[in-house]
Amino acid sequence: MKMKWRCFLVLLACTCLQASSLFAQQIRVVATWPALADITKQIGKDLVNVESLATGVEDPHGVPMKPSFVPRLNRADALVLIGLDDELSWLPALLEVASNPKIHPGQPGYIDCSVSVDVLEVPTRIDRALGDQHPMGNPHYNLDPVSMKQAAQAIADGLGRNDPEHASVFKKNVEAYTAELDQNIARWEKEAAPLRGKKIVSYHPDLIYFAERFGMEAFGTIEIRAGVPPTPGHIEELEDSMRRNKVDFVIRELHYPAALAQTVADATGAKLVELPGFVGGVPEAKDYISFIDYNLRTMLKAAQAS
Ligand SMILES: [Zn+2]
Repeated sequence: MKMKWRCFLVLLACTCLQASSLFAQQIRVVATWPALADITKQIGKDLVNVESLATGVEDPHGVPMKPSFVPRLNRADALVLIGLDDELSWLPALLEVASNPKIHPGQPGYIDCSVSVDVLEVPTRIDRALGDQHPMGNPHYNLDPVSMKQAAQAIADGLGRNDPEHASVFKKNVEAYTAELDQNIARWEKEAAPLRGKKIVSYHPDLIYFAERFGMEAFGTIEIRAGVPPTPGHIEELEDSMRRNKVDFVIRELHYPAALAQTVADATGAKLVELPGFVGGVPEAKDYISFIDYNLRTMLKAAQAS
């Protein structure tokens, strides 16, 4: 009996040691958004401990800063972000307070997912004074699965920089995840056939990548420009032009106000569709693949009903 207990204790000690050494080896990653956390986990698996700051229901250009963000950033080995100034209104201030040099821009722990993305709507002239939230081009590539393959590659490269010993594991895992995305992209492109040629108006200019990927036309926005609120004159002009051009859908991203989107849809005969902008924006969008699934399914349902 004594022997049995001794064996049990030795086994328990070994298990604890294994668990603690695994924990010690893990890279601590903080992602700004749940989609980036999901993809980091797909690539890093047990070699990473990853958490997201935003939950997916927030306005990307104004995520409320919680005090809990600071210690999480302070402990992180790596930070995964959308980039292109998408997080400009909240992340740089947090980085300053957290004072963790490992995750500052230019350091190995700063993993900017936009580095290889083909950025749309890059302005020829940068004028922040106009209030434009997209001074580096449109940062909402998270709605395009092809761009997110490039983001996944940036994450794998970034994890490899921080843990060179396991770079080949990250490479293998990103290849597997990319293959899974490719399979889904082929399916999504097929399923989206009824959406081809449809014209959409969104609240904010954040659906351009989604529209282009699936053959829709991003016709206009309720905002005058990214981050510039609508005026009655702008809405009147938009509605006129939507009626003349027979715009099919008004899309309200769930983090923008509902009433005006409904009014514009009612005034023009367009169908109102409500979509999450991010993984976590609705319970069904629990990871990146189910997020694109949800958005396409919702659009297709609306197209069938119209
Ligand atoms: Zn934006």
